[in-house]
Amino acid sequence: MTNDLRDPRPNLVGRPPREIAVLLENCVDRPYRARQVGQWVIDRNATGFEEMTNLTKEFRAELGRRFRVSDPEILDRTVAADGSVKWLFGLSDGLAIEGVSMPEEGKLTMCLSSQAGCAVGCTFCVTGALGAGRNLTPDEIVGQYRVILRELETPVDRVNIVFMGMGEPLLNTTHLGTALETLYERVSPKRITVSTAGILPGIRWLAGLSRRPKLAVSLNAPDQERRQLLMPIARRYPLPELMAELRGFPLERGRRITFEYVLIRDLNDRVADAETVSRLIREIPSKVNVIPLNEDAQHFPEHRRPDDDTINRFAVTLRDAGLTVTVRWSKGLDVDAACGQLKGRHQGKVPR
Ligand code: SF4
Repeated sequence: MTNDLRDPRPNLVGRPPREIAVLLENCVDRPYRARQVGQWVIDRNATGFEEMTNLTKEFRAELGRRFRVSDPEILDRTVAADGSVKWLFGLSDGLAIEGVSMPEEGKLTMCLSSQAGCAVGCTFCVTGALGAGRNLTPDEIVGQYRVILRELETPVDRVNIVFMGMGEPLLNTTHLGTALETLYERVSPKRITVSTAGILPGIRWLAGLSRRPKLAVSLNAPDQERRQLLMPIARRYPLPELMAELRGFPLERGRRITFEYVLIRDLNDRVADAETVSRLIREIPSKVNVIPLNEDAQHFPEHRRPDDDTINRFAVTLRDAGLTVTVRWSKGLDVDAACGQLKGRHQGKVPR
């Protein structure tokens, strides 16, 4: 069932078992009944009460009168030659969000959205160019995972989740926290990454969680001046404060912080920039993900992708400084798999 704004019944999707138990308190004779319902929704990815065959017909009918199990609707999907899929999901209020799934060495990485739109306004991002939207609710966050899992028939032990789709997840910590608690029932925190533009209160919130996902930070520039040019939020959360916070961030054994660095021609792609970046982060257990810009002439014509030699030189400089570096060469490029771009393409076509 897909989400319907006019449906007042609480959605059981996106809720951890303890919340489902509270919701069902008045309609179950024994607590294990609520656990059974939770298992169907969370563990077995059920789409409706009729699937819950170990419950009596009467109980299923009662559940259906009081609750719903609904996910975002698939509005569009674009499949790339490398197997990446870009998903456009419709929400109950007519907004649309994107997700991307990328198969990789027997695993499937899902890139999910946390907000419909984004107020952070990074100058290299289509979502940022489209402006602020609203926070996604836990069912809308977890629903993206459920739909992709179902559509691709992926075994759950092969799934990694990254919150790098539309929006800044650490500006939506309340709903993200509930969604994470629900996802942890199926996906280990070790296989979930939250990516932030550097929202300091959100990073502190993450640091205080008893079960933490992995942390990725969009760095994108070696100094405050260029960082705030690319990411206006850096004025509020300056680079020196961000780095101080990250130096104290609690890391579980073997974990590292990922620094993402969108590489833009003549702006942040010099060898000297790579050297500055390596000095900036070398005290932090980390790895660097270099992302050559996905150009978009409509939304940010001033930014260009560097040529391959420049990209290589930048990555090699970081590597020679002792850092672990990956370059995202082309994964999903032919479906515009960078942040926000599918939404940009479909704006105005979203039904309702
Ligand atoms: S890159 Fe992320 S934080 Fe920046 S505008 Fe885009 S969605 Fe928002």
